[in-house]
Amino acid sequence: MMDAVRARIRDVPDFPQKGIVFKDITPALSDPAIFREVIDAFIARWKGERIHKIVGIESRGFLFAAPLAYALGAGLTVARKPGKLPWQTIREVYALEYGENALELHVDAVGPGERVLVVDDVLATGGTADAVGRLVARQGAELVSFSFLVELSFLHGARRLGPERVHSLITY
Ligand code: IMP
Repeated sequence: MMDAVRARIRDVPDFPQKGIVFKDITPALSDPAIFREVIDAFIARWKGERIHKIVGIESRGFLFAAPLAYALGAGLTVARKPGKLPWQTIREVYALEYGENALELHVDAVGPGERVLVVDDVLATGGTADAVGRLVARQGAELVSFSFLVELSFLHGARRLGPERVHSLITY
């Protein structure tokens, strides 16, 4: 399966900085049949799993979180960079290769008793998704899993997140 999708993911050398080979997923979005195949694959994996809320990670995670939430009949919420969410937020900071970054969630985005799925486009080192997992846990919600279009397995993000709660459609 997924071979046609994989063929539409392009390597961009030296982006956003020298030495990094960036996986550009935009060609997989712009082809209607491929985009549908991607969303259908996410739906097939999570249908029937009692997901109450989906958290999309800024910004490309939103592209998959929204149609998946719609199809599953789940609520949609977003983890955003600091200063973007208007209401009261909680924040988790995570380390980058140089410096640090942070993500925020509205305090009422998820809550106790809710089963939550976190969605993003690419899993690299896992720092980003791990921060969102901590946000979800702080609000007392149940983190069901993390789900990605692409996993860069050589960066061992799944090890960091716990392999049993990592799902990815395509692995490199
Ligand atoms: P991590 O925190 O190292 O796992 O990096 C994951 C975050 O960076 C995700 O939000 C991705 O959107 C983004 N990212 C990292 N590498 C790539 C890539 O090669 N292509 C697209 N996004 C990437």
